[in-house]
Amino acid sequence: MRLILLGPPGAGKGTQAQRLVSQYGIVQLSTGDMLRAAVGAGTPVGREVEEIMARGALCPDSLVVSIIADRIEQPDARKGFILDGFPRTVPQAEELDRLLAERGLSLDAVIELRVDEAILLQRIESRIEAMKARGEKLRDDDNPEVLHRRLAAYRAQTEPLVDYYRRHGTLRTVDGMAPIEEVAATIDRMLSSEAVRSAPEPALAQRR
Ligand code: AMP
Repeated sequence: MRLILLGPPGAGKGTQAQRLVSQYGIVQLSTGDMLRAAVGAGTPVGREVEEIMARGALCPDSLVVSIIADRIEQPDARKGFILDGFPRTVPQAEELDRLLAERGLSLDAVIELRVDEAILLQRIESRIEAMKARGEKLRDDDNPEVLHRRLAAYRAQTEPLVDYYRRHGTLRTVDGMAPIEEVAATIDRMLSSEAVRSAPEPALAQRR
């Protein structure tokens, strides 16, 4: 199973991805996590992206594409993967199509978590305040100002992917404002009908 989770920051992509990981035994590939690890380790890539990430902008396409190209080659990604936070631009999506086609692979579904931005922002701002009150560590880009910029980047650069994948016929849209369990159940229903659709026709299967 190869999936993309599409949606703005705070839409719940990470939460749903983790659940799908344990359910389908596939890996979650989050470019945000990989880039944060590079920043934490002080690698050349980390030094290149640290400031870009801190201001809520997007890192260069070529850099994230090469990270993903390497990552999908790893043995643990053979059974399938969930891309969380990638692709984020049309050129990244085109490169992903190329990478998959070269390997004879395809996407099973692109799941868009559609949210109401104003409510989302309120939700994230109150979550940040609650974390601060509990003395928990926040991400560098977890503050209202940067969040506005990350949402603006989503709208300008990532939202066009909704149309891109709609044209490709792989887009499935879920109401991301629903409770987590409801979102999970809707995704499960979508994926099981996906599995039915991609299974061989009974008549054909019998003839083999
Ligand atoms: P995330 O954890 O997915 O919200 O990503 C955190 C930050 O990492 C983003 O605000 C970007 O600066 C960077 N980033 C993650 N994924 C990508 C991507 N696919 N393309 C460009 N920048 C990315």
